[in-house]
Amino acid sequence: MKNTYLELFQKIAIELSKYLWSDNKNNCKEIIELMHEMEKHFEKISPYCPRCGQMKRDPNIYHNAHSRHAVVYICNNCGTEEALLDMKETHLPFNEWAIISELNKEIEGRNEK
Ligand SMILES: [Zn+2]
Repeated sequence: MKNTYLELFQKIAIELSKYLWSDNKNNCKEIIELMHEMEKHFEKISPYCPRCGQMKRDPNIYHNAHSRHAVVYICNNCGTEEALLDMKETHLPFNEWAIISELNKEIEGRNEK
């Protein structure tokens, strides 16, 4: 079933508030995948790569690399890096993806005020 834009918006709000208000931050993958669901509604996507944080994605979502670990499109550099890490049977944990670590910085900055 395809989610409507509003349903997706609500799901993201719920996952983000769970992340913000609980100590076990174990829903990083859900947040990342919801972002992808949201992006599918747009003709052009943001160049921001959720994995490395660089503006390196193609505006056409399907011209980017599909992550091997989450349902989301990442920049081609990250796609190559994932393939190399896969050969070593490892991967970058979701809490170290740029989109999550930047969210953490945002939360820390707010707590310091
Ligand atoms: Zn990247």
